[in-house]
Amino acid sequence: MPSADEVRALVGKNLAHVQERIAQACHAAGRAPETVRLIGVSKYVGPDETAELVAAGCCDLGESRPQQLWDKAETLTERGCQVRWRMIGHLQRNKVARTVHYADAIDSVDSRRLLAAIDAAAQAIGKQQQVLLEVNISGDQEKHGFLPGEVGQVVSEMATTWPNVVLRGLMGMASLVGGEAAARQNFADLRQLREQIVSQTGVELPELSMGMSGDFEAAIAEGSTLVRIGSALWAGL
Ligand SMILES: *Cc1c(COP(=O)(O)O)cnc(C)c1O
Repeated sequence: MPSADEVRALVGKNLAHVQERIAQACHAAGRAPETVRLIGVSKYVGPDETAELVAAGCCDLGESRPQQLWDKAETLTERGCQVRWRMIGHLQRNKVARTVHYADAIDSVDSRRLLAAIDAAAQAIGKQQQVLLEVNISGDQEKHGFLPGEVGQVVSEMATTWPNVVLRGLMGMASLVGGEAAARQNFADLRQLREQIVSQTGVELPELSMGMSGDFEAAIAEGSTLVRIGSALWAGL
């Protein structure tokens, strides 16, 4: 077990390294570095390590399990950390109300039934809940998400059907097989889908959440605005 000082030093060093890689990928893609936001995925570690990441300057965090998001949100708030939480994993409807209470954004919205539940929970507390629609871009059977062909219809229904939900964009995950070339193609597909839907519906979709530790450079090259990075931030712990 590393000491608290060692954790602090490691997390600070890992964060600086990831930020540097993001800046380089932006430079290579001819993009301004502030067009890409780092979401630190804290699912691998406890509240102590997570608090160190926030102290080091990463205040946008993602959790893939609702219970962990709620618990860490409570603990970090008690410790005075200012965090914007994003729910990035599969969300069941019985966990929506508490998640809406804590989450700045829910990025993994993958069904109309979930949208209806989020809308109701947001209305109940007088909130406008920001969301992304998760799209199954890789076609992997076990992945969640809307099929690319159904997203346009959902987007055009959003404003009238779920008025307490604010759609900010799309999220996708690359295929587990096929390596970097397949990942880059998946990301390009999501960007093109976004462009097509924006021109079809007139709805702005400013955010594209794509890219993780193993493939975020390719995602940035294809227009990602939110990279969800876990393991690279916790290396060596
Ligand atoms: C775990 C997770 C990540 C982070 O993955 P790493 O490869 O560890 O960077 C990103 N997105 C989602 C949805 C995750 O569940």
